[in-house]
Amino acid sequence: MQTTASSLDAVCGQLRETFGFDQFRGRQGDVVERVLAGQSTLAVMPTGAGKSLTYQLPAVMLEGTCLVISPLIALMHDQLRSARANGIRAATLTSADADWRETIDAFRAGALDLLYVAPERASQPQFRDMLHAAPLALFAIDEAHCVSEWGHDFRPDYRQLRPLMDAFPQVPRLALTATADRQTRDDVLAQLGIPADGLVLAGFDRPNIRYTIGHRDNPVRQLTQVMAEHSGPGIVYVPTRRKTEELADKLAAATGRPVRPYHAGLEPERRAANQAAFVASEDMVIVATVAFGMGIDKPDVRFVAHVGIPKSIEGYYQETGRAGRDGDPALATMLWGASDFATARARLEEVPQDRRGAERARLDSLAALVETPGCRRALLLRHFGEDPPAQCGNCDNCLSPPGVTDVTELARKLLSAAYRTGQSFGFGHLQKVLTGAADERVRQRGHDSLSVFGIVGSDEAPLLQPLSRALQARGALVSTEHGGLALGGDATAILKGEQPVAIVVPPKRSRGRRGDSTP
Ligand code: ADP
Ligand code: ZN
Repeated sequence: MQTTASSLDAVCGQLRETFGFDQFRGRQGDVVERVLAGQSTLAVMPTGAGKSLTYQLPAVMLEGTCLVISPLIALMHDQLRSARANGIRAATLTSADADWRETIDAFRAGALDLLYVAPERASQPQFRDMLHAAPLALFAIDEAHCVSEWGHDFRPDYRQLRPLMDAFPQVPRLALTATADRQTRDDVLAQLGIPADGLVLAGFDRPNIRYTIGHRDNPVRQLTQVMAEHSGPGIVYVPTRRKTEELADKLAAATGRPVRPYHAGLEPERRAANQAAFVASEDMVIVATVAFGMGIDKPDVRFVAHVGIPKSIEGYYQETGRAGRDGDPALATMLWGASDFATARARLEEVPQDRRGAERARLDSLAALVETPGCRRALLLRHFGEDPPAQCGNCDNCLSPPGVTDVTELARKLLSAAYRTGQSFGFGHLQKVLTGAADERVRQRGHDSLSVFGIVGSDEAPLLQPLSRALQARGALVSTEHGGLALGGDATAILKGEQPVAIVVPPKRSRGRRGDSTP
């Protein structure tokens, strides 16, 4: 179907009437046009791009109901509220709903534009039967990366969608996701039966977000600094529930700003209250686990900080994408430590064999992001299959380019120290051995008579710590159960001199402003 001028008018009229928007944003128009023409589509658009509109608008215009598959009840209810606020006839069928009867009756009567369900419904025969009772206009599959094992959030129930949809061959499919690298994207197309030419890929760049990534030495002090520079709302992601409460208290005490915790284990009332307070606030900081953020539409978040590493580049992009949705300058900052990678790599052992390779690749990509001396944005965008300029001018490495030092020899010394001491000592001990600082423990173990004892001079010694961090990030050093460091990954190649090692040396932080040095 060719979209004629008059049907385009109708679409724009509906856009204004239902949503109050004068124009489409980004590639929304392309997606809507395809859907109205009955063409199955995978829309890959960043968080905040306005994916919901791309199925809601056709749902209003097309005869019949749009069935929306969504992975989280909370997310569905948020969507339901905003759809209804726009006057769209919408309902949810979830375990949390009491009005099933009414919803099913409304569906049968053809009185629903949107029906939200969880993927588990798809495998229920009664539900399938019900779908035959009224015309379907569209299948919309939200968070479609969940169908792929390559994605960061695989949900087996999503695999039931294909047989369900195949029973309605005339109904087009619209899959939506913010988080698909090339592999995941191809897999989603295949798994959901969408032709390869059905891909609509929006640009991933968020030019108003400044990316900075640095080593974590004192998170409270470092975040206090970030908060001093950003008086607007902020989100701090931490790895555990306990840390959300701990860090929220400390930051509140250090800054005098409103700071609240958020995690899935909080009492529901307190959790809801903290979220509502954050959404309404102009200066609140929320310290949260990754449970926080999905479905929250707060345009003026001025910074997103990660204390520790995210699960993947996709996760990082999605979480940092909650900053600066209003288009004003915002900061995404990550504070990482060697132990983050060491722990994550040690956990790989528990991952089932068939998924371990993918998990390891995810960590390697993250390690490349934190260790790169190049542009962070360019690396992110290349990860998503784009071909960005080499420099963005709005990330830490573009703003003050770090130095790169070849440390291949030093890496061989550090790795052989780990090897010769039996791969069971932590960094502190290895450092003592290498620099010839014999303490009680070193002498007791006889490590002062090893060939590696004292082979690192005072000029190289300061590089040991960043080197150890880099080797742990890339997996050449891995944590043992008891906190020691063992060889892993490409350690052997490095030891044999087959693999060079370079590390990033952070630029010297100068106190004065540039240009102040005129005598
Ligand atoms: P996503 O699901 O892609 O993260 P949403 O669908 O939640 O994004 O939309 C993000 C925000 O953008 C919402 O506040 C929505 O109202 C707004 N929005 C969507 N489309 C447009 C548009 N064409 N013009 C202006 N704002 C829009
Ligand atoms: Zn850059």
